[in-house]
Amino acid sequence: MKALTWHGGPRLDYGDRPAPETPPGAVALDIALAGVCGSDLHPYRGHHGPRTPPLVLGHEAVGSVAGDDGRYVVFPIVACGACPACLRGEENLCETRGLLGLDRQGVFADTVAVDPAALTPIPAGVPDEVAVLTEPFACAVSALRYAGAAPGQRVLVLGGGPIGLLTVHACAVRGIEVIAVEPVAGRRALAQRLGAAAVAASVDDLGAGQVDIAIDAVGIEPTWQAAVARVRAGGSATVIGLGQAEGVVAVGDMVRRGITMRGHYAYTRADFDAALATLAEHPPGLEWLTVLRLSEGAEAFRRLVEEPEGTVKALLVPG
Ligand SMILES: [Zn+2]
Ligand SMILES: [Zn+2]
Repeated sequence: MKALTWHGGPRLDYGDRPAPETPPGAVALDIALAGVCGSDLHPYRGHHGPRTPPLVLGHEAVGSVAGDDGRYVVFPIVACGACPACLRGEENLCETRGLLGLDRQGVFADTVAVDPAALTPIPAGVPDEVAVLTEPFACAVSALRYAGAAPGQRVLVLGGGPIGLLTVHACAVRGIEVIAVEPVAGRRALAQRLGAAAVAASVDDLGAGQVDIAIDAVGIEPTWQAAVARVRAGGSATVIGLGQAEGVVAVGDMVRRGITMRGHYAYTRADFDAALATLAEHPPGLEWLTVLRLSEGAEAFRRLVEEPEGTVKALLVPG
């Protein structure tokens, strides 16, 4: 099969690779479209985390299975189904959690072996370009669910990458007022088109205590601090970005103003299904998606890192 293989740091090459063995009970998904996630850029930037090269990255994909005319989006978290977290329905916190493209072959390839239970049928009429957003959209849907976001509240989204933008969309389609902060002008304009009531280039342009909930889709010390500082007394800050591992937050302010701060990882299976259903009903505009061939994958990564004004989200088509 053809695949885009990561060899450490910014080294990506496209070429032949042995097709994956399909373990007993698994199915081979023929990939039609794959999305490049912000987390795929971490190893490209040199932050390898748990990934060991050579590795095929990627966990956002739609495709089909030979002999079956359905189209599917992949639930990419591999959970055991038996640990306490799985039994609570929190597959995202499974004690032996795996992820496509992280600790096993990912989706930047012609085909990938997956558990049949990971195949989520795409409703008729939903284009692949919309369905492939299910995974990042599920991150937004899940974070908002845990934060208890509801109409009548005001949500602040820090960061206008794909997950921040899709958090804006998730709020807008539910009638939740949302404010987005993003330094890149083109991405601020996109946040407005996706339904942000207001946008700002910097948190310094916002008053304190203006929002009920902050969602930090960046995850660095300045955004953690801004999330805590900008929510009202009794409000909450949820960090979903993984930009920085450790740093300082104003715990004294959190105590005095009764602020909840929490981290949130990915989504449950129920969030994932809800995300696809919402996208089917309320698809976002797609003008911000850049579609390239898988053989141009290295160029897609380069543009995402070096040209964030012009390239927000890249999708890769095999070939
Ligand atoms: Zn993703
Ligand atoms: Zn488990």
